[in-house]
Amino acid sequence: MPASALPSVHLALDLGAVLLLALGLKGLSKVRTARSANGLAAVAIAVAVAGLLLEQGVAGWPWMLLGLLAGGGLGALVAYRVPMTSMPEVVALFNGCGGMASLLVALGAAALPAGLDLLGQLSVLASVLVGGVTFSGSLVAMAKLQEWLATPPWMLRPQRHAVNIGLVLVALAAGAALPLGLLTPAPALVVITVASLLLGIGLTLPIGGADMPVVISLLNSYSGVAAAAAGFVVGSQLLVVAGAMVGAAGLILTQVMCTGMNRSLTSVLFGGALGAAAAPVGEGGSGEDPGYSRITSCSAEECALALEAAERVVFVPGYGLAVAQAQHSLKELARLLESAGIQVAYGIHPVAGRMPGHMNVLLAEADVPYEQLIEMETINPDFPRTDVVIVLGANDVVNPQAKNDPSSPLYGMPVLEVDQARSVFVVKRSLGAGYSGVRNGLFELPQTSMVFGDAKAVLQQLTAELRSLGVGKVAVAAG
Ligand code: NDP
Repeated sequence: MPASALPSVHLALDLGAVLLLALGLKGLSKVRTARSANGLAAVAIAVAVAGLLLEQGVAGWPWMLLGLLAGGGLGALVAYRVPMTSMPEVVALFNGCGGMASLLVALGAAALPAGLDLLGQLSVLASVLVGGVTFSGSLVAMAKLQEWLATPPWMLRPQRHAVNIGLVLVALAAGAALPLGLLTPAPALVVITVASLLLGIGLTLPIGGADMPVVISLLNSYSGVAAAAAGFVVGSQLLVVAGAMVGAAGLILTQVMCTGMNRSLTSVLFGGALGAAAAPVGEGGSGEDPGYSRITSCSAEECALALEAAERVVFVPGYGLAVAQAQHSLKELARLLESAGIQVAYGIHPVAGRMPGHMNVLLAEADVPYEQLIEMETINPDFPRTDVVIVLGANDVVNPQAKNDPSSPLYGMPVLEVDQARSVFVVKRSLGAGYSGVRNGLFELPQTSMVFGDAKAVLQQLTAELRSLGVGKVAVAAG
């Protein structure tokens, strides 16, 4: 192939990668196609890398292949080793890597002797500023989620907003000084980089752990914006389009999460933590008994008897199911019930768990059929005709006070209306609170029985009890 044809081959491959990415993103919107869509997006990136390798020629390969092996190897290692419950931290780390990559690409391009035109200089400014904020903000978010970092009290003073605005102004001033010739590139870029890194810390450090997943989603959007700006710097259509898609998708996701948690984005970014009156908040529940008086508890055996007599059963999974890694035990129990002709469905709340789609991913891991995963708006009208609801390690997402107690910090958050079902069994280890740290009136309702224990252990007991009652035997024999 003549060398002159290589840039157009590169361009064609970039275009192909953009199309594959767009298709991948579309596929991610449906549970059924999400897995293959993720694969498609990975192929898109591979196509883009192949185009770059082709254009750069063999001389450029050692560095690129080294980067590919180091980055790909590290990414694969992290993805394999990290448990599902720590996924928000991983996403934060990956966002940070994206921000840092954009920042470095922009700095590298600015350091080239040929110099940059005005658009190039503005793009460098945007890429370094947003990339720096994304990088340091994501590391702080990850450290807070891991509980390595707490908010120092001085960070909550209102003056912090003035400091943050000051940092933005310093970065913009240094950016403006560059095209005006008041500063040479090196000092201007150092000022912008330092200001943006400090800004990322200043914006993220005061935010409560409860709001961190929303912030991570927002930082994900920022990483897309930084990548799009870096695309302008290096003249890559692929980066511009892919970055814009990530930026827009992150913003939409942030909005969905805010709605699901009944929070406004401004209150997340500039206000206190969710339910500030009801400490402790957002650190995964208090484990304390918040003074319940009318609690009915029962054994797995009694719960199994109710299941045996039911015609329709709905499982409501929550964060505790993920902690217990009980998805396979749940699938086994559901299969047994279905083999006895009992109708089974799963009620999925948009913010059940600790990240968007957490429950969908968890249940998909156990091969639960997608069509049985029913979204909140669809399943809520069906609860009155549901015989038994089993709440598995869920708490906030089934709290009826979100509907009927204006004094509750959860008031206004849409919830799964399990209190409308004929019988509700809540499987959890104690009367401890959920993520928001507030009490749950569901536990005291006459139709509710608590089944105390680890979700996996209880599910296994239920399966064993039902088997001992002969449930599913006829079907197995017939099969
Ligand atoms: P919650 O955090 O409200 O409750 C989880 C419950 O699981 C706890 O009360 C705990 O009780 C129980 N639990 C923990 N471990 C186990 C175990 N091994 N076996 C059985 N139960 C267990 O979870 P939900 O899913 O109901 O709600 C999610 C919360 O997270 C919401 O407040 C949401 O706003 C918030 N959130 C969600 C995000 C998302 O994107 N999904 C993002 C940010 C926040 P006990 O200790 O007694 O066992």
